[in-house]
Amino acid sequence: MAEVHISSCPLNCWDTCGFKVTVDGGKVIKVEGDDLHPITQGKICGRGRMLEARTNSKERLLYPLKKVNGEWTRVSWEQALDEIAEKMRKIKNKYGTTAVLHSHDYANNGLLKNLDRRFFNCYGGVTELTGSLCWGAGIEAQTWDFGNSYSHAPEDIYNSKHVIIWGRNVARTNMHLFGHLQSAKKQGIKLVVIDPIFNQTAQMADMYVSVTPGMDGFLAIGIMKELLRLGLEDRNFIENYTIGFEDVQTLLQSITIEEIEQLTGVERDTITSLAFIYGNRPTMTYLGLGMQRYANGGNTIRLIDALVAMSGNIGIRGGGANFGNLQVGQSFNIAALTLPERKTKSRTFTMMKQAEGILQATDPGIKMIIVTCGNPLTQVPNTNVVKRAFQSVETVVVLEQFMTDTAQLADYVLPTTTVFEEEDIYYSSMYHAYVNYGPALVQPPGEAKPDLWIWTQLANRLGFGADFSFSRDEFLQMGLSGLEKYGITLERLKKEKHLLLPVKPVPWDDYTFQTPSGKFEFTSLLAKKKGIDGQLKMMYPAESEAENKELAKKYPYRLLTIHPLRSNHSQHYHLIESMQSIKIEVSRDIAEEKGLEDGDKAKVFNDRGQLVGTVKILKKAHRKVINIDEGQWEKFGGSVNVLTSDRESDNGQGSTLYDCLVNIEKISE
Ligand code: SF4
Repeated sequence: MAEVHISSCPLNCWDTCGFKVTVDGGKVIKVEGDDLHPITQGKICGRGRMLEARTNSKERLLYPLKKVNGEWTRVSWEQALDEIAEKMRKIKNKYGTTAVLHSHDYANNGLLKNLDRRFFNCYGGVTELTGSLCWGAGIEAQTWDFGNSYSHAPEDIYNSKHVIIWGRNVARTNMHLFGHLQSAKKQGIKLVVIDPIFNQTAQMADMYVSVTPGMDGFLAIGIMKELLRLGLEDRNFIENYTIGFEDVQTLLQSITIEEIEQLTGVERDTITSLAFIYGNRPTMTYLGLGMQRYANGGNTIRLIDALVAMSGNIGIRGGGANFGNLQVGQSFNIAALTLPERKTKSRTFTMMKQAEGILQATDPGIKMIIVTCGNPLTQVPNTNVVKRAFQSVETVVVLEQFMTDTAQLADYVLPTTTVFEEEDIYYSSMYHAYVNYGPALVQPPGEAKPDLWIWTQLANRLGFGADFSFSRDEFLQMGLSGLEKYGITLERLKKEKHLLLPVKPVPWDDYTFQTPSGKFEFTSLLAKKKGIDGQLKMMYPAESEAENKELAKKYPYRLLTIHPLRSNHSQHYHLIESMQSIKIEVSRDIAEEKGLEDGDKAKVFNDRGQLVGTVKILKKAHRKVINIDEGQWEKFGGSVNVLTSDRESDNGQGSTLYDCLVNIEKISE
């Protein structure tokens, strides 16, 4: 008989939904939204529902595989684990532990997914990746400004007079915020959307502002100029709770509104209207991730933070510069799970430059890569170089559920369980502060195993099995250990299914910031400590007319690589036939310039690579914009990252995936 269980979405998404999962005959047959989850309220997206198909797919990896003479051969777990452990032992003895690279990402938000780091720390410390492809520049920027990256509780939106959605298509990526926007609008709260693409969120806005991609920071400068001209800034906040305001004033004086109009494509009247909106507190700003994926991305987020601060929208109900909400992840005792003190050696590559790191590493070179929770062959920029780098390494081990592009390149593929086949707890440091419980509901197919089982087996073989001699419950309790004083225990979580973490619904309401000065820093002392001038700047994307005229002439269009609607990054493409081709979305202006029509075949290209796909004309978008959704598999046309650059953001922690100029040509069938 069918049974319904409460579980959680594990996907890397703002919403971390609660699930209602129907199991019949030992099989997951339906995934729906949990009506009782305060955020989910019974509604989930197609990506979450697809986890049923993902779990039951015939394409699941069922057995450990080893590549022998270029062909996959099924091997026993004993053989795979013995051979991998033996290679790790030899590498450690001959080259040292940092000859192993741990390449990871965030395919799953489970707390116990952190145990891969425990394994590598107990091994002795490997080469690790720092920064993030996704939001690294913005997180670092907010750390410079506020000392941390915190967001307001979702329901605080109803305390706002105006909500600005700046570069985030919440209809596609943050559906429960979209629901709040609809309700807020009904209550008379005004909605402004700033985005180069007139997306589904923009369609419901009271005001839509199209901005030139990568120039959002200049728009913030323009609004700040107008705020000061109109006397709408919050003098009390600026004088008592900030440092470096004089540097901002100098910056604002160095550019005219006319120049800003030209750079951003936004007219003066609109800039003035935005200044009035910011000055009429409380105004809540939600920042997206795309605009910080540029060489000037950290500076862009800092300029928007500065605007929110200058207008007095920090620390008040209905305000905030809402980007990440790290107070959620910081609630857990990650150190107890990962044991950083066990590391005796370490080396880091940035996430963006991992390919270059692999190819250039000496003393020691990289001899083995182990990939967890990620698919770098589609997700890391400059795919052709990433491929070359991974192919250059003697042994690549991938823990996976499916034969992804990265798994295809591996020497060993170890089959792992899905969310419904292992117990864990789930949270996301992006939007709300609920932690969800996810029980093991069905048996894994074939010989697929949880990651934790794999780490334990390898640790036993490598002589540190004692560090893994704990049950899943014990590991979960370790991660929750700092929360017991608030009454948040595993026992309660198992019973109640979701619990609200003790985080501030209105961050910075005491105006005490986690920066070196304890104030909001327009000029960052933390940046200065790192040897970087911490002042806000006038900065352009690296691939732009302002920075590289020649390149902009050769490649006149800006490529965006937004998240697909139906796949979480690369995770679902193989399960949805209609997604298995490249769609090239272009503005009407580009279509006219290049003689393109809907359905035409075209190639998008630059010096790094090219991609062929089918044209779709965007109804309304910035005139220079081309979009190709990220995450596509090689067998379905290939990743858009053959075109993107592995350059790092200005603060070194982020990617520059959107900082990418391309050209486009129609091709005959
Ligand atoms: S992908 Fe996001 S919106 Fe969709 S079900 Fe999962 S958490 Fe919810």
